[in-house]
Amino acid sequence: MKFSFRIGVYLVLATAIAMLITIGGAYQLSVTEQVQQAGAEIRSQRILAKLDDLESAWEAVESATLSYVSSNAETALQQLREADARCRSGIAQLARFVAEDAEQQPRAAALDAAVVAMSELQRQGALLREKQGVAAAVVFISGGQYRKTEREFERLLETMRQHEHTLNGARHGIITSHMQQLGRLTLWSGLLTLALALFAAVAISRQREQRRQAEAHLREQERQYRLVTGSVPAMIGYVDRRHRLLLHNRVLEEWFDLPAERVANRHLAEIMGNDAYTAILPGIKRALRGKRVEYEGEAYARDGSKHVHAGTFIPDYDDAGQVSGFFALIIDITERKSAEEALRQSEERWKFALEGAGDGVWDRNIQTDEVLYSKRYKEMLGYTDEEFANRRDEWEQRIHPEDKARVMAELQAYLEGRSPAYSAEYRMRCKDRSWKWILTRGAVVSRDADGKPMRMIGTHADISARVQQQEEITRANERLDLALQGSRLAIWDADIAQGTIYLSEGWAEMLGESPHETFATGLTLFQTVHPEDREALYMLYLAALKGASPEYHVEHRVRTRSGEWKWILSHGQVVSRDAAGRALRMTGTNADISARKEIERMKNEFIAVVSHELRTPLSSIVGSLGLLVGMKDLGEESQTLIRVARGNSQRLVRLINDILDVEKLESDSLQIQLEPVDLGALLDTAIQANQGYADQFGVQLALEAVAEPAWVEANFDQLMQVMANLLSNAAKFSPHGARVEVRLERMNGAFRVSVIDPGPGIPEGFKPRVFDRFAQADSSTSRARGGTGLGLAICKMIIDKLGGKIDFASAPGQGSTFFFELPPKAQAARRNEHGALPT
Ligand code: ADP
Repeated sequence: MKFSFRIGVYLVLATAIAMLITIGGAYQLSVTEQVQQAGAEIRSQRILAKLDDLESAWEAVESATLSYVSSNAETALQQLREADARCRSGIAQLARFVAEDAEQQPRAAALDAAVVAMSELQRQGALLREKQGVAAAVVFISGGQYRKTEREFERLLETMRQHEHTLNGARHGIITSHMQQLGRLTLWSGLLTLALALFAAVAISRQREQRRQAEAHLREQERQYRLVTGSVPAMIGYVDRRHRLLLHNRVLEEWFDLPAERVANRHLAEIMGNDAYTAILPGIKRALRGKRVEYEGEAYARDGSKHVHAGTFIPDYDDAGQVSGFFALIIDITERKSAEEALRQSEERWKFALEGAGDGVWDRNIQTDEVLYSKRYKEMLGYTDEEFANRRDEWEQRIHPEDKARVMAELQAYLEGRSPAYSAEYRMRCKDRSWKWILTRGAVVSRDADGKPMRMIGTHADISARVQQQEEITRANERLDLALQGSRLAIWDADIAQGTIYLSEGWAEMLGESPHETFATGLTLFQTVHPEDREALYMLYLAALKGASPEYHVEHRVRTRSGEWKWILSHGQVVSRDAAGRALRMTGTNADISARKEIERMKNEFIAVVSHELRTPLSSIVGSLGLLVGMKDLGEESQTLIRVARGNSQRLVRLINDILDVEKLESDSLQIQLEPVDLGALLDTAIQANQGYADQFGVQLALEAVAEPAWVEANFDQLMQVMANLLSNAAKFSPHGARVEVRLERMNGAFRVSVIDPGPGIPEGFKPRVFDRFAQADSSTSRARGGTGLGLAICKMIIDKLGGKIDFASAPGQGSTFFFELPPKAQAARRNEHGALPT
């Protein structure tokens, strides 16, 4: 077994302390014993002194006895008593001193008994002197008894004295032996202390020397270590089991920006900070378990820059085969990493740029005609990697025969420097025998010393969809052109932000210009519009732009190149808006409706002329027939015929009046004179005026009006005409005895006038045509009741012109309600101010 120096020192120290304790204990015991012996000796001295005292007191008693017996003097008696008392008290004290000594105790008691006996003899002596005289008394006290007591007393004193002397002698022996023992102990402990001091001095100096040597060795090792590791561009360190950095190199100090003394022998957490330490802690633990650890991690330098570190921990074993620590080697691989990353990214970018977009790539060695086709290239044509060899003819043989010569010529032109770039579109045969349109672009990337091309790289894109789309667009455009030509429509497409308008060929044609596609600005176009039509067109255009109306249709005139006016039916609608809802594009059509307008004008003119021409003679016919009806001398048959003729000619007059009204309303020359009209008063008047007509059908007209005055901006006569039409229809179509109600109310911010009848109602199929001209649900009945089919058409034209709306609600067999609405006066005034047109 091998003790270390330290354990040896500990053992020696422990032994020395144990011995010192033992010596101390013995010393203590010995001193106590001596003190006890000294105490006992003092007691003996006091006993001996007391014995001497007693002896002298005894002698005083003897002489006082003799003196008293011989003299009988009072003084002698007194002396005797005092000597007696001294004796007794001396014995009592002695008895206390020897209380603990079993041998002396009875002797003290015997002394006391001797004194008592002596007193008795004294008394007997005194008595004898009185009776027989002094001599007898002296003989008595000199006698045997007296002497015996005397000797006994002296013997006892002597025995006690002897006893104490013997005890003292024994005590001296003990003390002497103790003194000798103590002397020996003192000697030993002195020697021991000396030995210890010597030992300690030797040990300390030996250890000092060892440490000095070790330190020198360590310094030398460290110097060598730092010399070696300082030149390595990596952090190197040695970490012990307690995570302390025992060795380190300069790079490590520089990384942590710490002086050597703040690094050496410090705990890793202290050097690198808690976070970084915690991050590598699992690695440290593994290394201390004897595992080699390799890791890559991010670390932040003192200046805050991010670095990537590759670390290796190599466990270190001591002589006993235990892990005593590990060597750490940490290399900064930031640059390598970022170079790798940059390369990877640029490769990825290229890969994405070339292949991510779906294009193939080719790379041709012009000398050997070996071509590397990318996977995507081959996939595009339906081939796997192995099915398509890396040769030039694999490409060439698949080019469409019709395109081949052109493609080869383009390639050749580029290679010979006759064209600046190589780009070709052609068809290629796929694996499934179908054709694909391909766009190839390529460039020479390396040339030899003579400038001859060595290597060419290019892309290969499938443009079949684009080509097909283009074909479709071309076809669609052809179809559209054909349709536009056939329909004589012109298309326009306005870019609102730019203010430009694209106009199709048809437009130039319409305006009598040479046919070409043209762009115009909104303003130049607007200037061709007839001044009277501009406002209406502009308002509708604005409403569509703002989204107030989805689209517009408007008829207006434009000036042709030759200065004439042409009627155009213009249609427009917004087709795209931005996120905020602002219109971006608006498109529409313009149709030339001049011919139709001309025909309409001629028709209207014809009707007007005919009506005017017919009205005068017809009026006279009606008048004459009226006169004839009144005549009494005509036969019954003639009367009937005349009434029929009168009825028919009256209908004709109404028809002609209605036609003329329509014509008048339609003609732009008619300007409605607006005036404030109180609808309540107007309805009163209308009912009075039409009650007579209603009476013919046995129908009662009744008014239900709102209490407030209902002022509108309108024209009294024309509203009277509307009411006459609505009331006459209600009366005509109601059963005999019915009641027709006229209602005036406020609704939707407007005044609504309704005419409600309990008649047959409007048949479902007829509803959409109620307001059309000459439209009648059942012409035979209507005609029998004197209708023309124009009344409601006229009503609608008037109400429209007044900016109101007219409509009806009806269910067959449940009567009809015809109503119109007009804005209240204030609103009407505002509307006119803005000049907005009714919608
Ligand atoms: P008409 O002069 O024929 O009455 P209108 O234009 O006034 O011409 O009416 C057109 C047609 O509408 C009428 O012929 C009739 O068929 C139908 N009509 C109009 N008002 C009513 C109503 N109140 N009840 C039933 N049908 C009606």
